[in-house]
Amino acid sequence: MKTDIKKADKKYIASTYKRFPVVAVSGKGSVVTDENGKKYIDMGSGIGVTAFGVADPAWRKAVCDQAAKLQHVSNLYYTEPCVKLARTLCRRTGMKKVFFSNSGAEANECAIKAARKYSCDKYGAARHVITTLNNSFHGRTLTTLAATGQARFHAQFAPLTPGFISFDAGDMTVPRELNARGELAAVMIECVQGEGGVIPLTAGFVKDLAAFCSENDVLLIVDEVQTGNGRTGELYAYMNYGITPDIVSTAKGLAGGLPLGATLLGEKCRDVFSYGDHGSTFGGNPVACAAALSVIGRLDKKLLASVKQKSKFIFDSLNGAEGIESVSGMGLMIGIKTSRPASEVVNECVERGVLCLTAKDRVRLLPALNIPMKTLEKAINIIKQVCKGGE
Ligand SMILES: *Cc1c(COP(=O)(O)O)cnc(C)c1O
Repeated sequence: MKTDIKKADKKYIASTYKRFPVVAVSGKGSVVTDENGKKYIDMGSGIGVTAFGVADPAWRKAVCDQAAKLQHVSNLYYTEPCVKLARTLCRRTGMKKVFFSNSGAEANECAIKAARKYSCDKYGAARHVITTLNNSFHGRTLTTLAATGQARFHAQFAPLTPGFISFDAGDMTVPRELNARGELAAVMIECVQGEGGVIPLTAGFVKDLAAFCSENDVLLIVDEVQTGNGRTGELYAYMNYGITPDIVSTAKGLAGGLPLGATLLGEKCRDVFSYGDHGSTFGGNPVACAAALSVIGRLDKKLLASVKQKSKFIFDSLNGAEGIESVSGMGLMIGIKTSRPASEVVNECVERGVLCLTAKDRVRLLPALNIPMKTLEKAINIIKQVCKGGE
C-alpha cells in the first residue's frame, strides 16, 4: 500500500515546518518533480543549498566516487577531500585555516568560540561581548539564536547564551561604547541579510565597521552561510565590499546539497584553537568535502560573471513591474516586495509550478547558480503574472 506521505509526516514529524503541499521525489537541474509527476522550477534551490541544481552530473560523480571509496573515518585520521577543500578555500580567500562542521549554525558556533578565545587569551575573559545587527539571522541553536537580532525568534527559549548585543546597521554607537568599556570581542554581520528580507548592507557602513574592527583589534566575523559560495556573484559576499574579515562562516550551498559547514580563520585566529578546544564527529566528512570541492572548483570567473548577468536580468524584469513595489538583493539572492502578501504570491506560484521562498514580508529567490536562461525567464514570467494578480 502506498504511504500517504503528507498524513504520515503530520503524524510522525515534529511540527516545526509549515510545508507546502508538495512531496518532492526527484529532479534534474533546476526542475523538481513531485509524487504525481508534476514539475516545478526550483527558484529556491532548497534554501540556497543545491548550488548546481538537483542531481547535477559533476556533483553526483564527485559524491558517488567518494562514497564508493570511503564515506567516513573519525577526525582522528587524515583524509584527502577535507584537506584539499581547506587548501582550496584558503587559497581562494586568503584565510589561513578551516574548521569543518555540518551546518550554518555550527559554523557560527565555531566562529563565536574562536572570537571569544582570541579575545580572552589576549585581553582576559571580561572582553567577550559579540555585537550583531538588528534584523540579522545566525541560526537556531541557543547561542546562534542569541546572536540573531530578531526578537521573534527568541520568545519562549530564554535564557539564551549571554554576551550578545545587537545594534542597527549604520549606527556605530553601540560597538564604540562596548569597545570603550573594554568588553567588545567581535562584530558579526551578514553582508546581505537573508532571513531579514534580503537586505544588502551599505558599502559605507561595512567599510566603517571593518576599519573600526581593525583599529581596535575587534574581530570581524562575516556570516556567509547564505551569501557564500558564489551566491552574490563573488565567491563570498564580503568580496563585493573590498574588506578582509577575520573569520568567515559558511554552509548552505557549500557542498551543493550535502550537510557541510566551514569556519574560515584569518591570520589573527589561525592558531586560536588547540587540541580539544573544538570538534565535530561528522565535520569534514569526505563525501561532503568531495561534493564541496566540485562546487567550489566550478565557481570560476565565467560562472560568477553569469551569476551577475542573470541577476541583472531578474532586476531589470521585475523592477517597475505591476504588483512589485521594490526589488532588493545581490547576485542570485533576490527579495521582492510585492503588493499582494508574499505568502499568497508564493502559494500561487507553487500551484503554477514555481517554487519560491519568503523572507519576512518579501518573496525571496535563490535559484541554482547554473539555472538555464530559458528556465529562469519562464519562472520570472510566472512570478510577474502572479504578482500582478487577477489571473
Ligand atoms: C541558514 C542560515 C544560518 C543557519 O544555517 P543552518 O544550516 O540552518 O544551521 C545561519 N546564518 C545565515 C545567514 C543563514 O542564512
